[in-house]
Amino acid sequence: MAILNQKTINQPIFFEGITLHKGKSAKMKILPSPPNSGITFKRVDLKKNNLILANFFNVSDATLCTTLSNEMGVSVSTVEHLMAAFYGLGVDNVLVEVDQDEIPIMDGSSKLFVEAIKKAGLKSLNLPIKIIKILNKIEIIKDDKYISIEPTKTTLEIDFEIKFNNKLIGNQRNKINVYENDLTDIYNSRTFCLFEDVQKLREMNLAKGGSLDNAIVVKGENILNKENLRNKNEFVNHKILDCMGDLFLSGYKIIGKVTCSQGGHRLTNELLRKVFMDNKNFTIFELKEKIVPNTFINSKTLKSIA
Ligand SMILES: [Zn+2]
Repeated sequence: MAILNQKTINQPIFFEGITLHKGKSAKMKILPSPPNSGITFKRVDLKKNNLILANFFNVSDATLCTTLSNEMGVSVSTVEHLMAAFYGLGVDNVLVEVDQDEIPIMDGSSKLFVEAIKKAGLKSLNLPIKIIKILNKIEIIKDDKYISIEPTKTTLEIDFEIKFNNKLIGNQRNKINVYENDLTDIYNSRTFCLFEDVQKLREMNLAKGGSLDNAIVVKGENILNKENLRNKNEFVNHKILDCMGDLFLSGYKIIGKVTCSQGGHRLTNELLRKVFMDNKNFTIFELKEKIVPNTFINSKTLKSIA
């Protein structure tokens, strides 16, 4: 497989599951698509204006999850865990058909998406992947939240920290190299919330599909789930997963280093908007094979697909 070529999936993939916020049952089909088509969502419950391109400028809400909307206001929510799976596995082009306005939450992580994509396999397309290299450091500071992106040679690094008053979560920090590290722990890390927030979300008519099957619920110094934490940094690792998914809304493989403290969907989206506001901040990377790393699909994943 030519590593520097764009990829799609080998065969269609089907999912069915509950949606996190509305609590509806959703059917989703992921289909192969041609080079340069990117990741496109299609609301098959609607007859027209039902295509939504996965791009940062289509992010219409980033409060609890990432919501994309097209120019007619048709939206699809909770795309980030699926987008993270696509980014890490090197899926550049697919059509995602869904019959609800949300992607099914599955187990609250990217685990099931990753397993299914690996099983379906990837197909190399005959056009090169799209890469941007960050040229200037861009940062955003908002109260106690911080995010920046700065130049690196050939890698995409994400350095993330969270600080919770809750003792079980506490302060966690982790750093990954998206194209070179084993991302299993990142993919498998579930979304989480504090027990005291569950009631508030329900009152806001949100998280109606949320349960211990698709989120870690922390009460005091305990988790309410039967399953223990999947890895010791599961909380911050899930934030890294979200960040990966949101970064793929750039439409590119990014070469740069992201540093984030206490951020989330909104801050990552604001960062992308700031980067792309000025074309001096980045360059479209030229494909000179000798200097391009061979790891724009995560190398560990590539081995397991091959
Ligand atoms: Zn998430």
